[in-house]
Amino acid sequence: MTKILAITNQKGGVGKTTTTVNLAASLAAAQQRVLMVDLDPQGNATMGSGIDKRDLQASVYDVLLGDKTIAEARIRSEAGKYDLLPANRELAGAEVELVGLTHRETRLRDALQVVASEYDYVLIDCPPALNLLTLNGLCAAKSVMIPMQCEYYALEGLSDLVNTIRKVRTSLNPELEIEGLLRTMFDPRNTLAQQVSDQLQEHFGDKVYRTVIPRNVRLAEAPSFGVPALYHDKLSKGTQAYLALAGELLNNAAQPAATA
Ligand code: ATP
Ligand code: MG
Repeated sequence: MTKILAITNQKGGVGKTTTTVNLAASLAAAQQRVLMVDLDPQGNATMGSGIDKRDLQASVYDVLLGDKTIAEARIRSEAGKYDLLPANRELAGAEVELVGLTHRETRLRDALQVVASEYDYVLIDCPPALNLLTLNGLCAAKSVMIPMQCEYYALEGLSDLVNTIRKVRTSLNPELEIEGLLRTMFDPRNTLAQQVSDQLQEHFGDKVYRTVIPRNVRLAEAPSFGVPALYHDKLSKGTQAYLALAGELLNNAAQPAATA
């Protein structure tokens, strides 16, 4: 069964794209067939996969508007060894253009249905907003991964996100689950980060991934080379953390569903 994961948090700069790119590369390195969907007009996941966003023949925009299929619009990221449905700033217009169309929240889901069986994992990088693009991500996904920095305001934003996920579940996608919360850019010497991390574990228990992503300069540098960190510095702490996260996901998927 294909795992379709939306990587989302309406807060900006928390590590969504870094997580999508490096998790995709780590899963691909573990022989998984991966499709990455860039749902952000910033096109950072596209650039980070070594694809120039200014030079696209087709993108997720054409797919959302129904002008292209995913099979037509996807390209291969040789740098990451996964397939990519890329994005660029053209996507910013989609929000307005989608409003007048039917099934505007489920267009990505409908398009994905045709190709999903070709993949083990589909990872969707969402923009930093709870908008129609993110809604398309949440409708297409089976579960949500929430990257977050352990800082004071993080918990506040989290309740808005959890409420949105609840609403999507009642109205559009009853199967949507929170797959997990990922602590990113973590600095264990920071007392506040440690406190927020403890609170997260109290509230969300085993929904918090065991893997913690440390603050690591190699992760920040890799996009400027157009490669995931795995192919920039394999032994760096950041690379190793994302390999461990991929291992945790694969391990969770292999466990029989808990009987409650
Ligand atoms: P946006 O909301 O704008 O889409 P985002 O949530 O996708 O942002 P990223 O772009 O992944 O966040 O990360 C924001 C910045 O922090 C980037 O410059 C990235 O390189 C850097 N960064 C992300 N994770 C780490 C990390 N673990 N260590 C060091 N730098 C990081
Ligand atoms: Mg991003």
